[in-house]
Amino acid sequence: MTRPTSMKTDFSDIKKYRKLGSMIIVSGASGTGKSTICRAITAADSNIEFSVSCTTRPPRNGEVEGKDYFFINTSKFNELVKSNEFIEYANVHGNYYGTLKSEVLRWLNTGKNVLLDIDVQGAMIIREKVKADPIISKCVEFIFILPNSLSDLEKRLRNRNTDTEEVIQKRLKAAKSEIDHFPSYDYLVINDNLDKAISDMQSIINSFESKTSRLFL
Ligand code: 5GP
Repeated sequence: MTRPTSMKTDFSDIKKYRKLGSMIIVSGASGTGKSTICRAITAADSNIEFSVSCTTRPPRNGEVEGKDYFFINTSKFNELVKSNEFIEYANVHGNYYGTLKSEVLRWLNTGKNVLLDIDVQGAMIIREKVKADPIISKCVEFIFILPNSLSDLEKRLRNRNTDTEEVIQKRLKAAKSEIDHFPSYDYLVINDNLDKAISDMQSIINSFESKTSRLFL
């Protein structure tokens, strides 16, 4: 399609232009409520899908294969790395996590938005990778979720009752250095109130739905 230069009074034509789906990258330390917020956003909006990552971490109680993660062993993970199946992968708190290209592309190709809950290392890898692509770089947005405070974060990690003391300590230490990276993100959401954080994130996503750069002109 060409740019609608001749449109004078009828702007309804604009709606016919195909929009690219966007990659919404969400990071934040463990215990910030990131997964809860992401789940609420995808449940409420059929135009946003969640990218299910692969991990070598064992499943927690209640986690579902193919919904929360694809739980795989290290040798399978290494195979996927070798065959270049990941957009990015990283070692987070001693386990491997990776975003499958197939998982993201299947949604983007249909014009849907895809939400990636990934750590800071993974987000920065994607930031570098998309820089060189003039189209994809317009379709990636980076959102960082901050907890109300570090003590609030510690409380949430403990209340989850899913991790050992050693894991909690590791995650708290990592959280402090992850939080330092929030200025590299485009948007910040502070989760001092879950409903407000979900609605803030929804507003951010709605705003980039309206960007002219997302239209194929
Ligand atoms: P959890 O073990 O609590 O589910 O996740 C630990 C961390 O790994 C979280 O910060 C989460 O965002 C991150 N993570 C989950 N999937 C991926 C992924 O595919 N790539 C990267 N780099 N990080 C991920």
